[in-house]
Amino acid sequence: MVYLVGAGPGDYGLVTLKAVECLKKADVVVYDHLADPRILGWAPASAERIYVGKISANHTMKQGDISELLAAKAKEGKTVVRLKGGDPFVFGRGGEEGLVLREQNVPFEIVPGVTSAISVPAYAGIPVTHRAIARSFAVVTGHKDPTTDGDVNWEKLATATDTIVFLMGIANLPAITANLVKYGRPADTPAAVIRWGTKPEQRVLTTTVGTAAADVEKAGLKPPAIFIVGEVVKLRDQLAWFDNLAQRPLFGKRVLVTRARA
Ligand code: SAH
Repeated sequence: MVYLVGAGPGDYGLVTLKAVECLKKADVVVYDHLADPRILGWAPASAERIYVGKISANHTMKQGDISELLAAKAKEGKTVVRLKGGDPFVFGRGGEEGLVLREQNVPFEIVPGVTSAISVPAYAGIPVTHRAIARSFAVVTGHKDPTTDGDVNWEKLATATDTIVFLMGIANLPAITANLVKYGRPADTPAAVIRWGTKPEQRVLTTTVGTAAADVEKAGLKPPAIFIVGEVVKLRDQLAWFDNLAQRPLFGKRVLVTRARA
């Protein structure tokens, strides 16, 4: 049996009970970079732990090899947990792994996780929808896959939803923001970049679509980060709550840092 499990965005508390149950019975855990290492602590000490991490463009193991590894371990009769950052079906390639397992008749279950697309803005005090301000949001990849010619339909995307959340978009920010403006998003639309959201090292930069690329460059912000566009970003002025976590310890011990608002 293979469990394709979402590990949440980074905050140790944002792992589901079902994920913990799966980890407790795992013989093998296959994990990547974004999972908080402490989450692995739920697996028995005897469980085999295999790192197949992806740090931005630097892929440690090819996707096809990861799927084959899951299938091979399961066929040995082992309970395999494939732990992924956020949700396995939101740019997590969980579907691809599921397809390989189905093809090889290996039973699997999907354990959804808390996706960074929604939770990272939440930790920055930015709701992806808000009454009268945002009735819709889109979650979009900011990474262009060099193996396909496909690209986002910018003409439609730019104005289709009130809020747009880009994952994996930091390196491509100049092109993303240029396309948004070209196809009708006003350059002064509020925007934010959130790096390592939900973690103690979370950093938030508020900007606009027109100035985001230059601001990120100036601030030296690197992946992993999300880019969020829309009027909802303004709500952060009133809803920011995680920035002064020192006053609000939630789960266990935390490294407490004071975050400057950019
Ligand atoms: N399946 C994951 C997304 C995988 S793609 C999910 O549902 O969240 C990896 C991208 O997710 C990163 O490049 C970044 O854009 C975003 N991301 C994941 N965790 C993040 C975090 N803690 N802070 C900021 N961005 C994050």
